Amino acid sequence: MVDIGILGVQGAISEHKAIMEKTLKELEINGRIYIIKDRDTLNKIDGLIIPGGESTTISKMIYRLKLLEIIIDRIEDEDLAVMGTCAGCIILAKKIVDPVENLHLISVIDMEVHRNAFGRQRESFEQFVNIKNFEKPFPAVFIRAPIITRTWGNCKILSRIDDSIIMVQQDKLLAMSFHPELTDDTRIHRYFINLIKN
Ligand code: GLN
Repeated sequence: MVDIGILGVQGAISEHKAIMEKTLKELEINGRIYIIKDRDTLNKIDGLIIPGGESTTISKMIYRLKLLEIIIDRIEDEDLAVMGTCAGCIILAKKIVDPVENLHLISVIDMEVHRNAFGRQRESFEQFVNIKNFEKPFPAVFIRAPIITRTWGNCKILSRIDDSIIMVQQDKLLAMSFHPELTDDTRIHRYFINLIKN
Protein backbone atom coordinates (compact mmCIF):
# COMPACT_ATOMS: atom_id res chain seq x y z
CA MET A 1 0.00 0.00 0.00
CA VAL A 2 1.30 3.42 -0.91
CA ASP A 3 -0.28 6.72 0.15
CA ILE A 4 0.32 9.55 -2.27
CA GLY A 5 -0.61 13.18 -1.69
CA ILE A 6 -1.18 15.87 -4.28
CA LEU A 7 -0.90 19.38 -2.93
CA GLY A 8 -4.43 20.64 -3.53
CA VAL A 9 -4.26 24.41 -3.24
CA GLN A 10 -3.95 25.49 -6.89
CA GLY A 11 -2.88 24.23 -10.33
CA ALA A 12 -3.02 20.95 -12.27
CA ILE A 13 -4.35 18.84 -9.39
CA SER A 14 -6.94 16.63 -11.13
CA GLU A 15 -4.53 15.89 -14.00
CA HIS A 16 -1.92 14.51 -11.58
CA LYS A 17 -4.62 12.50 -9.81
CA ALA A 18 -5.82 10.96 -13.09
CA ILE A 19 -2.36 9.94 -14.31
CA MET A 20 -1.37 8.67 -10.87
CA GLU A 21 -4.49 6.46 -10.77
CA LYS A 22 -3.55 5.14 -14.22
CA THR A 23 0.04 4.51 -13.08
CA LEU A 24 -1.01 2.59 -9.97
CA LYS A 25 -3.34 0.46 -12.10
CA GLU A 26 -0.61 -0.29 -14.65
CA LEU A 27 1.84 -1.27 -11.90
CA GLU A 28 -0.86 -3.24 -10.05
CA ILE A 29 0.00 -1.38 -6.88
CA ASN A 30 -2.53 -0.79 -4.18
CA GLY A 31 -2.47 2.93 -3.51
CA ARG A 32 -4.51 5.77 -2.10
CA ILE A 33 -4.38 9.29 -3.45
CA TYR A 34 -5.11 12.26 -1.18
CA ILE A 35 -5.65 15.86 -2.22
CA ILE A 36 -3.75 17.74 0.47
CA LYS A 37 -5.22 20.90 1.94
CA ASP A 38 -4.63 20.37 5.64
CA ARG A 39 -1.94 19.32 8.08
CA ASP A 40 -3.51 16.02 9.19
CA THR A 41 -3.67 14.54 5.69
CA LEU A 42 -0.12 15.67 5.04
CA ASN A 43 1.05 13.47 7.90
CA LYS A 44 -0.50 10.31 6.36
CA ILE A 45 1.32 10.24 3.04
CA ASP A 46 4.49 8.52 1.78
CA GLY A 47 5.04 10.83 -1.21
CA LEU A 48 3.90 14.33 -2.20
CA ILE A 49 3.34 15.87 -5.63
CA ILE A 50 3.49 19.66 -5.97
CA PRO A 51 1.72 20.45 -9.25
CA GLY A 52 2.29 23.16 -11.78
CA GLY A 53 0.22 26.30 -11.54
CA GLU A 54 1.39 29.65 -10.23
CA SER A 55 4.28 29.42 -7.80
CA THR A 56 3.46 32.73 -6.06
CA THR A 57 -0.12 31.57 -5.34
CA ILE A 58 0.88 28.06 -4.25
CA SER A 59 3.59 29.42 -1.99
CA LYS A 60 1.20 31.92 -0.36
CA MET A 61 -1.37 29.20 0.26
CA ILE A 62 1.03 26.65 1.78
CA TYR A 63 2.26 29.37 4.12
CA ARG A 64 -1.26 30.49 5.10
CA LEU A 65 -2.51 26.95 5.63
CA LYS A 66 0.61 26.24 7.75
CA LEU A 67 1.63 23.35 5.49
CA LEU A 68 5.05 24.76 4.66
CA GLU A 69 6.86 23.84 7.88
CA ILE A 70 5.35 20.33 8.01
CA ILE A 71 6.48 19.62 4.45
CA ILE A 72 10.00 20.85 5.25
CA ASP A 73 10.11 18.86 8.52
CA ARG A 74 8.88 15.67 6.87
CA ILE A 75 11.51 15.99 4.12
CA GLU A 76 14.32 16.70 6.58
CA ASP A 77 13.35 14.23 9.32
CA GLU A 78 11.63 11.42 7.42
CA ASP A 79 13.01 11.64 3.90
CA LEU A 80 9.54 12.25 2.44
CA ALA A 81 9.59 11.75 -1.35
CA VAL A 82 8.46 14.86 -3.23
CA MET A 83 7.94 15.53 -6.94
CA GLY A 84 7.59 19.15 -8.06
CA THR A 85 6.45 19.93 -11.60
CA CYS A 86 6.81 23.38 -13.18
CA ALA A 87 5.64 25.78 -10.41
CA GLY A 88 6.30 22.87 -8.03
CA CYS A 89 9.90 22.81 -9.26
CA ILE A 90 10.27 26.51 -8.38
CA ILE A 91 8.91 25.91 -4.89
CA LEU A 92 11.51 23.18 -4.23
CA ALA A 93 14.52 25.29 -5.35
CA LYS A 94 17.02 26.70 -2.88
CA LYS A 95 17.66 29.74 -5.10
CA ILE A 96 15.51 31.78 -7.49
CA VAL A 97 16.81 34.15 -10.16
CA ASP A 98 14.87 37.44 -9.71
CA PRO A 99 13.17 36.39 -6.47
CA VAL A 100 9.67 37.71 -5.82
CA GLU A 101 9.14 39.28 -2.39
CA ASN A 102 7.35 37.20 0.23
CA LEU A 103 7.70 33.96 -1.69
CA HIS A 104 7.53 31.13 0.86
CA LEU A 105 9.50 28.31 -0.64
CA ILE A 106 10.24 24.79 0.53
CA SER A 107 13.85 25.37 -0.63
CA VAL A 108 15.30 21.88 -0.34
CA ILE A 109 16.92 21.09 -3.72
CA ASP A 110 20.44 22.32 -4.49
CA MET A 111 19.43 24.21 -7.62
CA GLU A 112 18.81 27.70 -8.93
CA VAL A 113 15.67 28.26 -11.00
CA HIS A 114 14.74 31.03 -13.41
CA ARG A 115 10.94 31.55 -13.41
CA ASN A 116 9.17 31.86 -16.79
CA ALA A 117 12.51 31.50 -18.58
CA PHE A 118 11.11 29.46 -21.47
CA GLY A 119 7.92 31.51 -21.45
CA ARG A 120 9.77 34.58 -22.57
CA GLN A 121 10.75 32.77 -25.77
CA ARG A 122 7.69 30.57 -26.31
CA GLU A 123 4.59 30.60 -24.09
CA SER A 124 4.02 26.87 -24.34
CA PHE A 125 5.33 24.00 -26.42
CA GLU A 126 5.70 20.24 -26.47
CA GLN A 127 9.00 18.54 -27.16
CA PHE A 128 10.39 15.03 -26.89
CA VAL A 129 13.24 15.08 -24.37
CA ASN A 130 15.84 12.52 -23.37
CA ILE A 131 15.80 11.59 -19.69
CA LYS A 132 18.60 9.68 -17.99
CA ASN A 133 17.82 5.93 -17.79
CA PHE A 134 14.67 6.28 -19.92
CA GLU A 135 14.90 4.12 -23.03
CA LYS A 136 12.83 6.38 -25.25
CA PRO A 137 12.33 10.17 -25.30
CA PHE A 138 9.54 11.60 -23.13
CA PRO A 139 6.84 13.95 -24.52
CA ALA A 140 7.34 16.98 -22.28
CA VAL A 141 4.78 19.80 -22.16
CA PHE A 142 6.15 23.22 -21.19
CA ILE A 143 3.83 26.05 -20.10
CA ARG A 144 5.52 29.35 -19.12
CA ALA A 145 8.16 27.00 -17.81
CA PRO A 146 11.13 27.72 -15.60
CA ILE A 147 14.70 26.72 -16.45
CA ILE A 148 17.01 25.23 -13.86
CA THR A 149 20.05 27.48 -14.29
CA ARG A 150 22.51 25.63 -12.08
CA THR A 151 22.82 22.80 -9.58
CA TRP A 152 25.32 21.96 -6.87
CA GLY A 153 25.85 19.54 -3.99
CA ASN A 154 23.76 16.41 -4.15
CA CYS A 155 21.52 17.44 -7.02
CA LYS A 156 21.80 15.27 -10.14
CA ILE A 157 20.80 16.38 -13.62
CA LEU A 158 18.40 13.97 -15.38
CA SER A 159 17.51 15.99 -18.47
CA ARG A 160 18.38 19.07 -20.52
CA ILE A 161 17.25 20.86 -23.66
CA ASP A 162 20.44 22.18 -25.24
CA ASP A 163 22.19 23.90 -22.31
CA SER A 164 19.07 24.32 -20.19
CA ILE A 165 18.53 21.90 -17.31
CA ILE A 166 14.90 20.74 -17.16
CA MET A 167 14.86 17.79 -14.72
CA VAL A 168 16.85 16.93 -11.59
CA GLN A 169 16.89 14.50 -8.69
CA GLN A 170 18.29 14.89 -5.21
CA ASP A 171 17.83 11.66 -3.26
CA LYS A 172 14.03 11.27 -2.95
CA LEU A 173 13.27 14.70 -4.39
CA LEU A 174 12.41 15.01 -8.07
CA ALA A 175 11.83 18.27 -9.95
CA MET A 176 11.14 19.14 -13.55
CA SER A 177 10.25 22.30 -15.41
CA PHE A 178 7.59 20.60 -17.56
CA HIS A 179 4.19 18.95 -16.97
CA PRO A 180 4.41 15.11 -17.02
CA GLU A 181 0.72 14.89 -16.04
CA LEU A 182 -0.45 16.39 -19.34
CA THR A 183 0.46 13.34 -21.45
CA ASP A 184 -0.57 9.68 -21.39
CA ASP A 185 3.00 8.62 -20.66
CA THR A 186 3.20 7.33 -17.09
CA ARG A 187 6.98 6.79 -16.92
CA ILE A 188 7.74 9.79 -14.70
CA HIS A 189 4.93 8.92 -12.29
CA ARG A 190 6.27 5.33 -12.24
CA TYR A 191 9.74 6.66 -11.50
CA PHE A 192 8.32 8.68 -8.60
CA ILE A 193 6.49 5.65 -7.17
CA ASN A 194 9.78 3.75 -7.24
CA LEU A 195 11.44 6.58 -5.32
CA ILE A 196 8.69 6.46 -2.71
CA LYS A 197 9.06 2.71 -2.29
CA ASN A 198 12.85 2.67 -2.06
N1 GLN B 1 5.31 30.48 -14.54
C1 GLN B 1 4.69 29.80 -13.46
C2 GLN B 1 5.26 30.22 -12.11
O1 GLN B 1 6.11 31.03 -12.03
C3 GLN B 1 4.83 28.30 -13.60
C4 GLN B 1 4.00 27.84 -14.75
C5 GLN B 1 3.47 26.46 -14.64
O2 GLN B 1 3.48 25.84 -13.56
N2 GLN B 1 2.95 25.96 -15.72
O3 GLN B 1 4.80 29.73 -11.11
